[in-house]
Amino acid sequence: MTETIELALKTLEAQLNQPLETALEACARCGICAEACHYYRAEPKVEHIPAYRAEQLRNVYRYEHDFISRLFPVWTRAKKLDETTLANLTEIAFSQCTLCRRCTVNCPLGVDTPLMMRAIRAMATAAGTAPEILIMLADAAIEKGKDPSFYKEMFLEQIADMEKQLRDITGDENATIPVEKQGAKILYVPLAGAHTILPPAVVFNAAQEDWTLSIFEASNYGVFLADVNRAKQVAKRIVDEANRLGVEEIVISECGHAYACYRWDVPNWFAGQFDFKVRSLIEVLAGYISDGKIKVDPTAIPGSVTYHDSCNLARNGGLLEEPRYVLKSIVRDFREMTPNKAEALCCGGGGGIVALAEYAERRIAAGKPKADQIKSTGARTVVAACENCRLQIGDLNEHYNLNIHVTALTDLVVQAMRLPKPLPGMEAEHLFEGEQVEVPR
Ligand code: SF4
Ligand code: SF4
Repeated sequence: MTETIELALKTLEAQLNQPLETALEACARCGICAEACHYYRAEPKVEHIPAYRAEQLRNVYRYEHDFISRLFPVWTRAKKLDETTLANLTEIAFSQCTLCRRCTVNCPLGVDTPLMMRAIRAMATAAGTAPEILIMLADAAIEKGKDPSFYKEMFLEQIADMEKQLRDITGDENATIPVEKQGAKILYVPLAGAHTILPPAVVFNAAQEDWTLSIFEASNYGVFLADVNRAKQVAKRIVDEANRLGVEEIVISECGHAYACYRWDVPNWFAGQFDFKVRSLIEVLAGYISDGKIKVDPTAIPGSVTYHDSCNLARNGGLLEEPRYVLKSIVRDFREMTPNKAEALCCGGGGGIVALAEYAERRIAAGKPKADQIKSTGARTVVAACENCRLQIGDLNEHYNLNIHVTALTDLVVQAMRLPKPLPGMEAEHLFEGEQVEVPR
């Protein structure tokens, strides 16, 4: 047995717990999960049935754990793990499953296929067959956590420029973007890029919130690798920052996997060091509107708008009504996709696949059901509260000629605040281009 295979098997063994063993043992082979998966809907072939994917891991598990399978592997299709099988498993787990969990909620037995796909990702990461780019991105984040001072000066310069833009947009000379403010109530954790800092800064200033900006980004590539050790190191930067500043809560930018990570995993990983709340920016927006902390014009968005439920926010995170409350407060012509909410179709961009250029073609093909859903709403603006989903829907827009604008929820809220100037790229003429609507002045 090579060292690679030994590492992969050792990692499988280390993960075996009651939920994983149940998933590995319990499948009625009924095939109901097939239609739940966007890969299968886009291209109905046996390799795209969730149960078939899971079976590839089950074959390896059986060989290791089932006495009869070891003696007579042909009888049970048990498979000794070798380099070819590991490469095949790696490709399945990283490029043919976005961990959306739609198969699980539609399975009569609740078989957790994404849990098995995660187990494979962890095996591949340990054995060195996982996509290199995900490892590089996770490791870069860990390095940044070790010595943030190297980046901090440049970051503060960018924030100073952004503050000028903020004042220009809001017309408020006192608007600020506080960084690492001791004792602030909220620590807002953005993604990389001004587009996830400036719009929330507009909102926080209007709400007169006691907030501060994190110097780190919310994204956590350790999660996509199913590498708990790396994921914990990435997350620890923010846990330490929140504790150091003494904040009451952390608010995560519009990002599906980061919300899932900080809302569900991090409190378990850092039990005892973690006594603050975690909310998504979506919940904060809904709260500000319902409490009247920010004023929005209900007629500000006259064009047709639909909402894409990110799997991690909606099906896996329970944020179903908050984004709809926000949108219905500012949009005149809101159109639901069908199905939606917990049954929403994955856009095809989750699970880290957006970062994997080698699988771009597969990703775009798997997004066809989402493209069709968007098209059938006839809406010209698609709101997605997750960066990965926005990138994917942007690519679907180009590939399938959807003729849509893709935007974040916060950006649309800022638009509805009717400020002296719009956010970059949100000029009304551009946003409602081609729609027969009266553009608000
Ligand atoms: S995973 Fe569930 S839905 Fe799919 S074949 Fe197995 S039992 Fe049926
Ligand atoms: S988690 Fe989503 S992408 Fe993965 S097999 Fe299930 S339905 Fe398909």
